[in-house]
Amino acid sequence: MSENFFNNTKIMFVVTFTILFLSLFAVVVSTSIDNNLNSVYATANKTLSVITSVSPITNIVKNIAGDKISLTGLVPEGVNSHTFEPVPSDIIKLNNADLVIINGLFLEDNMEKVVNESLKNKPDIQLLKLADNTINSTGWIFDFSFPKELGHPNPHLWLNPVNAMKFANLTKDKLIEMDPNNTDYYTENAEKYIALLKQLDEGIEAAVQTISPENRKLITYHDSWAYFAPRYNITVIGAVQPSDFSEPSPLDIAKLIDQIKAEKIPAIFASEVFSNRITDQIAKEAGINIVQTLRDDSLPGNLTSPNHTYVGMMLDNMEHMIIPLGGNTSSLTDINPENTYTSP
Ligand SMILES: [Zn+2]
Repeated sequence: MSENFFNNTKIMFVVTFTILFLSLFAVVVSTSIDNNLNSVYATANKTLSVITSVSPITNIVKNIAGDKISLTGLVPEGVNSHTFEPVPSDIIKLNNADLVIINGLFLEDNMEKVVNESLKNKPDIQLLKLADNTINSTGWIFDFSFPKELGHPNPHLWLNPVNAMKFANLTKDKLIEMDPNNTDYYTENAEKYIALLKQLDEGIEAAVQTISPENRKLITYHDSWAYFAPRYNITVIGAVQPSDFSEPSPLDIAKLIDQIKAEKIPAIFASEVFSNRITDQIAKEAGINIVQTLRDDSLPGNLTSPNHTYVGMMLDNMEHMIIPLGGNTSSLTDINPENTYTSP
């Protein structure tokens, strides 16, 4: 009897222990399957929502991110980015973004204010300011339209292809940090795109060499060539537009006309965003025959055009800039302006 009781107790102990052990094992296994499923689910469904500002920057980001993110550029093409204000639907987009990529250096102040507001409720939104991470204050350029006393440097870094390469690398690093599963894709896209930007940089360098040195001078309406010009040994003689984006005073215009005559400038450049009226008036009074339009905020062609890209915009600008100054652009004819990212 006592032996039976002992055996029964032993059996019960073994059975109970086994049940307990199996249950515990089941819980551990199912939890781990669950976790794995969750992470697979998250990885498969999580597409980064990225908001950018001006179209040249949107296109640089697109060439790195390809089809792996949801990308929206907020500043409509041909709109003055310096005074752009987000409308309510833009504010919703900014609130829902994972990452906001802007030029920075005070260009998109209104957009930045919205992001800073959104951050109070959603602290995980990331803001990447490309220009601020490309140069520090020792590299800032102040000039007529962006005077030092106002404290806002000229923000147009992207018109220098070397800066565009840095923008591409900064974008690649941020995307890899936030979406490491696509590291290889972003790395490969960045390599291909930067190779194209190098080709563009070398092509521009060679094209500028065909302009006689006394003509390597720029007078533009909108002051967007401050970082491009020193890269290729071109001098920005002046810009017409005052710092508040109003129209220049008659005295300012008269000074520029004197300068143009003294420096024998062959061409003057209008902007795609601002009125050509003043540029035309200056050209007429200074005896300049050529008024061409340069673009910094909008891409040529329409959404389906192969040159509706940052590189396409730069090639278009070089046609409009180098030929009127007496040079030629044959070093640029083989450059394919199309996007370089791979569509999976
Ligand atoms: Zn501008």
